[in-house]
Amino acid sequence: MPATSLDQIVSLCKRRGFIFPGSEIYGGLANTWDYGPLGVELKNRVKQHWWNTFIHRRSDMVGLDSSILMNPKVWEASGHVGSFADPLVDCKNCNERYRGDKLLEDTMGVEAVAVLSLDQVQPMLAAEKVNCPKCEKNDWSEAKHFNLMFKTQQGVIEGEGADIYMRPETAQGIFVNFKNVLQTGRQRLPFGIGQIGKAFRNEITPGNFTFRTREFEQMEIEYFVEPSTKEEHFQTWKKTVWDWYTGLGIDPEKIRIRAHEDDELSHYSSQTVDIEYQFPWGWGELFGLADRGDYDLSQHEKFSGQDLKYTDPDDATNKFLPHVIEPSFGCDRTVLTFLLEAYTEEELPNGDVRTVMKFDKRLSPIDIAILPLSKKEHLIEKAKEVHQLLLDETNLVTDFDVTGSIGKRYRRQDEIGTPLCITVDFGTLGEEDDQGPKDTVTIRDRDTLEQKRVKISDLRNEIAEYWKS
Ligand code: ATP
Repeated sequence: MPATSLDQIVSLCKRRGFIFPGSEIYGGLANTWDYGPLGVELKNRVKQHWWNTFIHRRSDMVGLDSSILMNPKVWEASGHVGSFADPLVDCKNCNERYRGDKLLEDTMGVEAVAVLSLDQVQPMLAAEKVNCPKCEKNDWSEAKHFNLMFKTQQGVIEGEGADIYMRPETAQGIFVNFKNVLQTGRQRLPFGIGQIGKAFRNEITPGNFTFRTREFEQMEIEYFVEPSTKEEHFQTWKKTVWDWYTGLGIDPEKIRIRAHEDDELSHYSSQTVDIEYQFPWGWGELFGLADRGDYDLSQHEKFSGQDLKYTDPDDATNKFLPHVIEPSFGCDRTVLTFLLEAYTEEELPNGDVRTVMKFDKRLSPIDIAILPLSKKEHLIEKAKEVHQLLLDETNLVTDFDVTGSIGKRYRRQDEIGTPLCITVDFGTLGEEDDQGPKDTVTIRDRDTLEQKRVKISDLRNEIAEYWKS
């Protein structure tokens, strides 16, 4: 049985060290979350897999890591100062503030809400009888635009520093470096620049665990193309991203592609599709694919006075601004989706129920656990030898666990999604023939629960075979 509520995941994440509430010992800070020892491994694996797939394994892509703080003109040029806003409504009874469109989504559906204009939000909240989630009254203010950018100050003396913004998307760092990358890398169209990094948005209604937070990580690609070819690239990217998610274990029945209606499009986009996932509370955006045209490059040309045109290497008279297809992944939402998909409750043949995180084995935070059967010193010594062998001969992330009964340790490893456990017992030492022959260990498979006796000298090959399959 998969996860039926978000609470199951939140509680497992806390219990096992995936994700903790932020600043917890001080009573927390609403909607901030910290990735614990296993969470950071899982998130790093997602990022590494993304980087490997989209940057290292493609000859048309390069990477970048740009600053979070940028010249404020960037955000004027990009349109974020003028139009990066959500419809804010106040409850006139209790003064709580909400994002009007999100309040309406439950009753009207995402598609219907997406096309509402600002002045339709308040009348709709009344017509649909959407009450304040806090005080349950229906007494809403007119909706007004609320800019989502976080402002801060640069400089040592308060008041004297220029106002600057924490970037609300990683994309602009790519556009302002377009010329640098082009000059140093001599790329030919089509080519893309990808980066992974933090973004900040002063969301009016964050929530649903790590789904909507004010600080989050994005994995974004700006793919530069010759304008007449952009539709073809748009379609290819749609399929590539769908395949990436399903290839890592997302059930195709639980994701869908939704095209934005014209009224819903961002100020920079002429075509956008989202990949949405069926979260426990309903469909939500996981990824967005936008045709940004030459909007950003032409705006930066205008505001910076720099020539950002591309010169056709086969015809120096042909200079133009490339168009941009943007595949934009939310890293935290992707991690949350993998957690939800992995969560499984299973009845064992003996009637016990086990919780097992069935992550794709390339994403599991720990690859292999080494478990000495008991705490006897000479057995632990032998298990340490096996552990060292794996550290020396593989790049696997390992866990050496001696605490609790072997059954409890298997259950813990299942709950954190470790694909393989290696048990070292008295057979390994040549002391108990019925446990197995000398110099062999047991490998236990997380999903099939199959246990196999393997010679220590064959361990490396066995493990390599497993990861190849
Ligand atoms: P939403 O409609 O949910 O606010 P968006 O359309 O504003 O999202 P984009 O600007 O397309 O989001 O950002 C790209 C990706 O970044 C999203 O698909 C999502 O995965 C992620 N993302 C955006 N906002 C947040 C947030 N507040 N918290 C976590 N992830 C986010």
